[in-house]
Amino acid sequence: MRTSSGTRPRREKTIVDPGKNAERLGAHVSTQGGCPTAPRRGFAIGATAIQLFTKTPNMWREPEVTPAIADDFRRARDVHPVGFAVSHDSYLINLASPDPALRARSIAAFIGELTRSEALGLDGIVSHPGNFIDDHDAGLERNATAITEALRAAPGSVPVLLETTAGSGTVLGRSFEELAAIRNLVADDVRHRVRFCADTCHLYSAGYDLVTEFETVWDTWDRVIGIDLLTCLHMNDSKTPFASRRDRHALIGEGSLGTEPFRQIMVSPRLAGIPKILETPKGDLDEVTNDLAMLALLRAMGGAN
Ligand SMILES: [Zn+2]
Ligand SMILES: [Zn+2]
Repeated sequence: MRTSSGTRPRREKTIVDPGKNAERLGAHVSTQGGCPTAPRRGFAIGATAIQLFTKTPNMWREPEVTPAIADDFRRARDVHPVGFAVSHDSYLINLASPDPALRARSIAAFIGELTRSEALGLDGIVSHPGNFIDDHDAGLERNATAITEALRAAPGSVPVLLETTAGSGTVLGRSFEELAAIRNLVADDVRHRVRFCADTCHLYSAGYDLVTEFETVWDTWDRVIGIDLLTCLHMNDSKTPFASRRDRHALIGEGSLGTEPFRQIMVSPRLAGIPKILETPKGDLDEVTNDLAMLALLRAMGGAN
């Protein structure tokens, strides 16, 4: 951000608030035993931001969040206050598909996700842009119209957080321009419910060099999308090299990104306060050891203890 000539840069703008930053840091947690178990799992690892699946992500079955489940979930959040909580949509959904049957099924599943997330009172639904398969521009259009249709069918306030993708095959969302285009193509009446989630592994795999051009990447994000539309960050190192177009998450500091981009994220004034969620491998022994270690590492980078 430039300051006008004659105005001295205000120092407080560069001061990081580690408290605020530390308040919204966590991981994707299991919902084995039902959605209401997620806040407890998040609390157990000291998370103040969690992500969960509201259903089995690789199956089409659409479970319902009954009022009783929603109550249990809210109570669990009261007892285990994790702050920020989002869902991640199903891997089967392809809102950009040219196949009318798959597209219709995807829209129905996405409406299911919106309905469950609204009932649970979540802060967003992380959603991968779809695969265009045949024609790129037509795919962007189909993806946006499907989002419009689903948002109109599931009124409420929960926002859709379009996630940056690694860019393998014909998947949309590997460039900031594509993400912005999808949002712009969503109809006026529901566009305010479309925001974004940036995944570090996917950004790096898609060719955004967080290692050597950290500030430039976020300058570009701000120019093309707007930093104010960034609702969530996924904190993942990558098992594959820069610009690999592959999506293989690694533990922080153990992949091709290394620790430095994560340290920069943890101290970046413009990314302070944006919830940061790990999707790193849980490990073989249990579901907490790796997450506890990763969260401790990130907090230390941010200057917290
Ligand atoms: Zn994702
Ligand atoms: Zn992600």
